[in-house]
Amino acid sequence: MKRLARWRSLGAITIGVTTAVIGLQVSGALQLLEWEILNQWFRWRLPESRTVPIVLVTINDADLQWAGRWPLSDQQVAALLQRLHRDRPAAIGLDLYRDLPIQPGHTELLTAFRTIPNVIGISKAVGATAGSTVLPPPMLRDRNQVGVNDLLLDADGKVRRNLLAIDQHGQDKLALGTKLALIYLSQRGIIAQGGEAGSCTQLGKAQFCRLDPNAGGYVRADTSGNQTLSNFLRIPGGIPTVSLKQVMTNQVPASTIQDKIVFVGAKADSLWGDRFYTPYSTDSDTTWAGVEIHANVTAQIITSALDGRPLLQGIPECWEWGYILFWAGVGTALGWSLHSLRWTILLCPTAIVSVFAIAYSGFLLGWWVVAVSPALALLSAMLLSHVFWAWQALKQANQILELKVQERTQELVEKNLALEQARQVAESANQLLEHLARTDELTQVANRRFFNEYLNQEWYRMMREQLPLSLILLDIDCFKLYNDTYGHPAGDRCLSQVASTLQLTAKRPADRVARYGGEEFAIILPNTPLAGATQLANEIRSKIHHLQIPHESSYVSSHVTLSLGVVCIVPLPDVSLGQFISKADEALYQAKMQGRDRVVAVELPVR
Ligand code: GH3
Ligand code: MG
Ligand code: MG
Repeated sequence: MKRLARWRSLGAITIGVTTAVIGLQVSGALQLLEWEILNQWFRWRLPESRTVPIVLVTINDADLQWAGRWPLSDQQVAALLQRLHRDRPAAIGLDLYRDLPIQPGHTELLTAFRTIPNVIGISKAVGATAGSTVLPPPMLRDRNQVGVNDLLLDADGKVRRNLLAIDQHGQDKLALGTKLALIYLSQRGIIAQGGEAGSCTQLGKAQFCRLDPNAGGYVRADTSGNQTLSNFLRIPGGIPTVSLKQVMTNQVPASTIQDKIVFVGAKADSLWGDRFYTPYSTDSDTTWAGVEIHANVTAQIITSALDGRPLLQGIPECWEWGYILFWAGVGTALGWSLHSLRWTILLCPTAIVSVFAIAYSGFLLGWWVVAVSPALALLSAMLLSHVFWAWQALKQANQILELKVQERTQELVEKNLALEQARQVAESANQLLEHLARTDELTQVANRRFFNEYLNQEWYRMMREQLPLSLILLDIDCFKLYNDTYGHPAGDRCLSQVASTLQLTAKRPADRVARYGGEEFAIILPNTPLAGATQLANEIRSKIHHLQIPHESSYVSSHVTLSLGVVCIVPLPDVSLGQFISKADEALYQAKMQGRDRVVAVELPVR
């Protein structure tokens, strides 16, 4: 049950993280990072050893100096075209605007357009602002020898997509690079097939499909027209490039131009407008001229059609989500199971590096696999599940601790209980001992020892409080004879009977009956004046009478009688307790002398 709950929580972490990361991805927040990583992949890839049938004729600042003007006159352009034509190129892409005549030499240019096959001019179909479109050279337009030179820039200003064609007023207008590639391929018998109603176009070994707006790291990209992800081709030494001046001064061998696609375009630093950032650009010095990008597009199309070099593709969106889910799962598993620092240090970077290694390997194979979202999913799932693990571990430790505390508490309670019981047993044993120590065994009244203790205590208490303390000493008359007549066991019973009568009569809590010795008893009466004590003594005497315990050998009566001596004093420091007891003894003696069976009370003088 616990296990199931744990699996459910880990599953929730995986799904939750996946959903959050996909949400983040769909929101476009990760797009810039994915682009930046793709840039890095491009820069890391080694140049490919391929030959491309392309030559760039660039017009740089030195060429402008040589030509003496900009824009070049129609005459200069016509001369360049004628010069190139002499070396029989496969096609010429003229990446120079010629929508208006630039005299002198417009007629010559028209002648060149008319007589030289496969010269492709340019137009700018989509302007950055309204009215910034540029028309094609009218004659080339009439001959259908025009390509658009628009480029697609991402939000960070970089070119990552090839615009193969644009859709203008329901009409497909090929881009300059596409147009030239198709001419070159058709000369080799390769013709585009399919491509109707959104289906893919087959071109030799290459297949061009409509770009998904969310391909690779893109989020809702504008994929209007016909686009592909750009898989820039870098070859050792770059695409062969010659300058205008070199061509015009016959410094370029005919073999350089023959059967090649020749791109003519400006690359002068002073002509800033036609420079673009690509994944390879890190600053303005590493930007590409527009003509270089067009030539690269042509190179990409031709190499993929002829050699099967892959174009860059994104994986389908649902696969991508599955891929993110996978890494969230890996992160959850790692975060849950990695508890030692050594393994964490080893496996976490391995997992992260794997994400990027897969992305880079995919890139080398022509797939743009996202890296930021899976890495993010991996890391956050790892962190969350690790926190979850720590929390669970803490909870478990707490439970164990609580259990231990409970056990210990229980132990303590039990021990305490046992102690308490032992204490109670000891206490009752003590009480019993104390009782035994202070009780006369036969009569169950206080014994002589306790009598002494109690009398001593009350003596001083009454002295402190200046209250009267009375003492009755009493003796069973002719008890020796009783024993002689009825036997010792009967004597013992008689003693017990007398003792309980005494006990029942002296009822106040502080009153204490004690066996003084043999058949003599004493009653200590704190806070009792002589009159009260005498009354109590008489009461005792009469109660014993009423008991009518037969005593046939007594010479006082036919039943058991008592003689009692009563004394009372408010104790003073100069009278000793011994004197007080002696006075009681004296009173008892007088009772005996006066004939027994009577009470003699003596008030001790107060000084
Ligand atoms: P008197 O009238 O002068 O008090 O004479 P008496 O015989 O009562 O006094 P005496 O002191 O001569 O004798 C006391 C007797 O009490 C002696 C003894 O046999 C008896 N006696 C003392 N202690 C016990 C006892 O624990 N049990 C029994 N059965 N008799 C006892
Ligand atoms: Mg006696
Ligand atoms: Mg006696």
